[in-house]
Amino acid sequence: MVNLKQFNYGELERWVRKQGWKKFRAKQLARWIYNKKAGSYDEMTDLSKELRNYLKENTKLNALELITYEKSKEDGSIKLLWRLEDGHTVETVFIPEKGHNTICVSTQVGCAVGCTFCFTTKDGLIRNLTTAEIVDQYIQTQRFVGLDRRISNVVFMGMGEPLANYDNVKKAVQIMTDDRMLGLSNRKITISSSGIIHQIKRMYEDSSFPQVRLAVSLNAADQKTRTQLMPISETNTLEDLMDTLNSLPVKTGYRIMLEYVLIKDVNDRPEDAHRLARLIGKNKKRYKVNLIPFNPYPGSPYERPDEDRVNKFHQILWQYNIGAFVRWSKGQDISAACGQLRKKDLGEKISFLTKESLKT
Ligand code: SAH
Ligand code: SF4
Repeated sequence: MVNLKQFNYGELERWVRKQGWKKFRAKQLARWIYNKKAGSYDEMTDLSKELRNYLKENTKLNALELITYEKSKEDGSIKLLWRLEDGHTVETVFIPEKGHNTICVSTQVGCAVGCTFCFTTKDGLIRNLTTAEIVDQYIQTQRFVGLDRRISNVVFMGMGEPLANYDNVKKAVQIMTDDRMLGLSNRKITISSSGIIHQIKRMYEDSSFPQVRLAVSLNAADQKTRTQLMPISETNTLEDLMDTLNSLPVKTGYRIMLEYVLIKDVNDRPEDAHRLARLIGKNKKRYKVNLIPFNPYPGSPYERPDEDRVNKFHQILWQYNIGAFVRWSKGQDISAACGQLRKKDLGEKISFLTKESLKT
């Protein structure tokens, strides 16, 4: 059965026409689904009962079911765990910030890339998320936190490698940025990639891919360390990656974010900071650097650096006039840090599950 959140606007119109309905029905449906964020067809009060029944019988509106959530006492971020139709689970994180709210969405169940520091990839890739499953993370999270706490920013930094699920991510971004649908600003959407060069180029050459921000997980400033952390670097070398990033047609106000997970004694020494600064070289205006102190998890092979080390690294980059920020991850008490997401053992989760939490 088709899920209506699967369609971009053009497709929604075509589908409406195919049912033999007038075009305005597409506008009406888009308004209920994306503007009002209706959770059921019964909420769509200006559709006839007959039409609502037809929709109920022939289409799906929701792609996710909330299993449980955890709220951080530290900073109010909320991690939501969803069940997909086939029983797999994925997570989304809601992050309230000064003046705006952000969500971190997942794009795959698991991940095939195999970065050695990342929890998400432990069991490899299970499957890509559909467009509807990506878009529904936004809509259902917005319903969950309340429509008055508008989510304005979306980062594709949850579970999975977005550019390995190119078509579904592209359509989700079309739906998010279309004024007739979610209508978010392109500048407030960030796609984070581990650095699959041909897919990054494809995204910039693709005129139907809305121009959004790009983040690339660099994680090391030399080929050897990077390959040790990210096996993908064997084929997508650091040199080729930087050449590609240096030549992308980046619009002003859309600096590329270089993400750098700081891992104790692996890539956090002062000489690593100098090396990173040299790698960026004269292209300082093109980038900003996001330093993410490693988040340990049970059984993780690496450690988090001390605060002093992190601050020193940060300072060195500033000495070179490179815009760098430390992202002390949100919701550490609930393991909500982006990149640390992975379905937890449900047995463990059930203890959080109360009737109260499911009613919301
Ligand atoms: N696959 C994409 C997006 C998801 S990962 C990518 O790799 O960019 C999002 C970010 O979380 C990446 O920058 C990744 O390096 C980081 N990350 C992964 N595991 C982490 C951990 N344990 N601690 C801190 N950051 C982590
Ligand atoms: Fe996949 Fe990103 Fe984790 Fe690497 S860091 S394994 S690309 S989710």
